[in-house]
Amino acid sequence: MPDGSYSTTDPRLSQFRVKGEIPVPVLINWLTVFAMPLLLFFGWRSSVLGDPITPTILIATATLLALNAGLYGVLRRETLHRRGFITLITALFTYLAVGAVEGGSAVLWLFAYPPIIFYISNARVGVRACAGGYAALALLFSPIGDWVIDSPYSSSFRLTMLAALGFEMVTCYILDQSRRRSKLSLMRLANEFEYAAKHDALTGLANRREALAQLEGEQHRYLRNGRPFSVLLMDVDLFKTINDTHGHHVGDELLVLVADTLRAQSRKIDTLSRWGGEEFLALLPETEPEEAVQLANRIREAIAGASIEVDKTPVRATISIGVAGIRHSESLDRLLQRADEALYRAKARGRNQACIGEEETAA
Ligand code: GH3
Ligand code: MG
Ligand code: MG
Repeated sequence: MPDGSYSTTDPRLSQFRVKGEIPVPVLINWLTVFAMPLLLFFGWRSSVLGDPITPTILIATATLLALNAGLYGVLRRETLHRRGFITLITALFTYLAVGAVEGGSAVLWLFAYPPIIFYISNARVGVRACAGGYAALALLFSPIGDWVIDSPYSSSFRLTMLAALGFEMVTCYILDQSRRRSKLSLMRLANEFEYAAKHDALTGLANRREALAQLEGEQHRYLRNGRPFSVLLMDVDLFKTINDTHGHHVGDELLVLVADTLRAQSRKIDTLSRWGGEEFLALLPETEPEEAVQLANRIREAIAGASIEVDKTPVRATISIGVAGIRHSESLDRLLQRADEALYRAKARGRNQACIGEEETAA
């Protein structure tokens, strides 16, 4: 079923990558690359200006950012990479504001924080980090801040900075929500398309294309590991008569009943598909033909026992089944042909029965 349960705060949203979107680790690494010369330049400048602490802090941040990127190159752990980066830039921006670096002008770098944090983390972390940063800055610009450090910020600068940063944070939040919502609808659409491309609209079973893809996968596994598999080719008996007697819509209801019964009788590992009109195919992995015949008979009996009600009278259907198990290095076409021949025999013998591929018994 298409999964419509995503929300804008769902972590799966960041795992799903829309074509053209910059992956978070790539963005973090590029930001690290751009930050390097800036940190080294301002570190050198502060040392020329005689600042005793800032050069060490800036060079240490540059080194740690490079280490963080290097560690990601080796470990490929996205969460660690992202958290390391957020911690480092949060610590750096805090120092720039509290230390009043570059005569207090370095606090302007705080404007770079909201867009980065919203892009690289989920919406909740973005809101928390921005709210925390804003509250810390407001505290720094308050009389308490003045009491703790000798702040060079004028009152008009403080006012404008707080108003502009607040404005930027809200704008970033709105733009981020809009980006997440469009990504969400793309994800839902992609799920719906994928579902529609693989399933039959009436019964919800896999369609023929999907069944063929699963068959190919199973055959590869068989050729690689020798794991056997079998198929059941099923056809509703005298379905034309049912349609002619009760109408097409009753025929459709019966097809749904057959599909539901198939689902109820088969195992989780089996692939059930609507092969064509009133034909169904079950792919049974790790199943020898003898075992498949038992399953076929169980399905056949369950379908014969099920009914739908039309004008207060039960209408039933029976099915005939052709069973075949993969042998040697035969092709899928050959396997399906043997199942079809077995189905034909089941029809010829009077319907409502399961027959096994001729060569299975000869083998
Ligand atoms: P047999 O036991 O030999 O299989 O007889 P049959 O009547 O089932 O075989 P036949 O192939 O002659 O008829 C199949 C019928 O299935 C014909 C077609 O109109 C009907 N059919 C195919 N797809 C659908 C469908 O989606 N809905 C309905 N109601 N009927 C369908
Ligand atoms: Mg048919
Ligand atoms: Mg039929």
